[in-house]
Amino acid sequence: MDDRWYKNGLIYELSVRTFADGNGDGIGDFRGLSKRLDYLAALGVTTVWLSPFYDSPWRDDGYDITDFYGVHPDFGDLGDFVRFVEHADDRGIRVLVDLVLNHTSDEHPWFQAARAGDPRFRDFYVWADERPADAEKGIVFPGVQTTTWSYDRKARRYYFHRFYDFQPDLDITNPEVREEMEKVIGFWAQLGISGYRMDAVPFLIEPVSATNTSPGPVFDYLHGFRKYLSWRVGDAVLLGEANVERDEVADYYGVGGLHMLFNFPLDQHLWLAFARGEAQPIRDALAETAGIPGTDQWATFIRNHDELDLGRLSDEERADVFKAFAPRKSMQLYGRGIRRRLSPMLGGDRRRLELAFSLLLTLPGTPVVYYGDEIGMGDDLSLPERNAVRMPMQWTPNRNKAPNVADQQRDPGSLLSWFQRAVTMRKQCAEYGNGEWEPVKVADDAVLALRYRSANDELLALHNLGEDEARVGLRLGDFVDVFANRDYGRASRLDGYGYRWLRRT
Ligand code: MG
Repeated sequence: MDDRWYKNGLIYELSVRTFADGNGDGIGDFRGLSKRLDYLAALGVTTVWLSPFYDSPWRDDGYDITDFYGVHPDFGDLGDFVRFVEHADDRGIRVLVDLVLNHTSDEHPWFQAARAGDPRFRDFYVWADERPADAEKGIVFPGVQTTTWSYDRKARRYYFHRFYDFQPDLDITNPEVREEMEKVIGFWAQLGISGYRMDAVPFLIEPVSATNTSPGPVFDYLHGFRKYLSWRVGDAVLLGEANVERDEVADYYGVGGLHMLFNFPLDQHLWLAFARGEAQPIRDALAETAGIPGTDQWATFIRNHDELDLGRLSDEERADVFKAFAPRKSMQLYGRGIRRRLSPMLGGDRRRLELAFSLLLTLPGTPVVYYGDEIGMGDDLSLPERNAVRMPMQWTPNRNKAPNVADQQRDPGSLLSWFQRAVTMRKQCAEYGNGEWEPVKVADDAVLALRYRSANDELLALHNLGEDEARVGLRLGDFVDVFANRDYGRASRLDGYGYRWLRRT
């Protein structure tokens, strides 16, 4: 069994701003987060991933950074950050932080100096004298963003921005920029973190420059960051956000040296499987993403802080997912995705929520859960774009009787209590996510059956994607249920949306 820490455990994504307020100003902060570390430990979280908490005008949920080395004053200071990392470490919880190097805020001092004509900082960004002919291509936020090149009146030139116009792209082909990036990587590593969730990796390394259009050694740049981080902190990891084609994945893991990538194809096909009540889309996605090198690992997720991107599905498949989970236009985003949270998408149906989490915890890869989903938190579609899923964590009851931690902690039958038990059992089943796995042929198209093996253990995971009871048709005499939606005795069946985790005796 591979005991690399990132190949097992539970990663919990949260935003400091919305998680817990420790000073009563209504905004989350590091003091509040530190006080909730025991909650995370009890949940079975082994790694916390913090979305951006750096100084920022906060026009893109903190992904528009003005100081790579500073904590946003609303959330505390560097001392509060270090104390949080120490207290997490006391509980055996590792910390990953967001690394946003593709761009800065337009208010960053580098961009301000660049605009004013400082030759050193001008070359930190990507400029053009004329508006490039392809300025409307490659837009990331269609319908919100209209161009990738905007005119700056002060510089009297066009600058490139893959994302919003207030986020000018840094030019990674500039060695001075790469040196600054390494400084950032070294800085937080020195403060005790276990690695980075690397934002927008394909855009970070894309060869966009008005003067330099050759691809260049882009993956070598990534590998340089990996080498630098590994030299500083031997077991630190890079977890990449790279929604790329399967044949490109090898370069991100191999030449680029990233340890982990989010499994976007699997996520999209999970939702297709939920929509159609069939297991085949999951089997297809697993087959497509199988066979990565042994030291590498997928990060498996169902929902996160962004829209649920369905760009890899066919038009027909996407239409099925929209129809099932985002029938109103207001629930959709950028023409390709869904801006809702897990629980409302599944209609708050406890059977389907358990099915979704059971899959998350047993599919190949390391599971990543988005804060609040463990209590079935709702979303707010009145908020713009992706802010719909970025509401404050609900710790106590409010007037709307929304799902909250306090109520669910008192109730052994709550979703939160169930989730806690599931994670506890998952820790005793290390082969899930980490062992050699293969699909097992079963009698019903709605059932997904996976077998996991190592030298020490053999596990099965059975899931029924359909709403009707299903025959599994496997001889389970040599297996014992370790976790299931109910006691099945010796029957080789699954309830509608039922699940069973089994171990060979
Ligand atoms: Mg506060």
